[in-house]
Amino acid sequence: PKNIIWAVAHGHQAAVTIDRLLSGEDVRERPAPGVTLVSQKMGIHEWTYDNDISNDARYKVPWAPPEQTLNSIATEVELGFDPATAWKETQRCLNCDVQTVFERDKCIECDACVDICPMDCITFTGNGEEAELRTRLTAPALNGAQDLYVSDLLRTGRVMVKDEDVCLHCGLCAERCPTGAWDMRKFLLEVTQAGPACRDRTVRRAAA
Ligand code: SF4
Ligand code: SF4
Repeated sequence: PKNIIWAVAHGHQAAVTIDRLLSGEDVRERPAPGVTLVSQKMGIHEWTYDNDISNDARYKVPWAPPEQTLNSIATEVELGFDPATAWKETQRCLNCDVQTVFERDKCIECDACVDICPMDCITFTGNGEEAELRTRLTAPALNGAQDLYVSDLLRTGRVMVKDEDVCLHCGLCAERCPTGAWDMRKFLLEVTQAGPACRDRTVRRAAA
């Protein structure tokens, strides 16, 4: 695994496999994780999350002087932020857990969200092959590793395309939209763990 987060995730998957194998179930069947999306709307221009955007660059964590750290392996190198800098660093958070959710049937294609988006990441256009579509967006989507968010066909035959790679999760599109077609929703993923939740219901009933 590339880091400790992946190591823990792989550990969960291994535990699910062992549990299902010992329960006589097909280990190729992987129970879906739990997913919730909860609207963060509190009013027309208010959200339950802090949607203000800070343009600050990343703050550098101060280090202890090398004459101390090189003299003793027990001396910690990183001293950590003082409270004021720590607060400023937290304000750089892009709220990646708060998703922009688009409801096609509510959209009247007024383009108000396109106008207000500070990152030009929303486009209404004709659909097409992904590689070609990427070049036609308001701001070309250059990071091919990041999927595009593409809606079903709208009334005019166009689609809404959003480049997730540059979205700031600021919520301005959702504040501006006159019909509520955009909403900011907090995403929570509940990983399936070993135990009753990862077993087939029928087998569970038969075992009871
Ligand atoms: S949340 Fe902000 S940056 Fe993202 S699409 Fe909406 S207006 Fe643009
Ligand atoms: S502001 Fe709302 S209704 Fe207007 S184009 Fe955007 S999503 Fe559609």
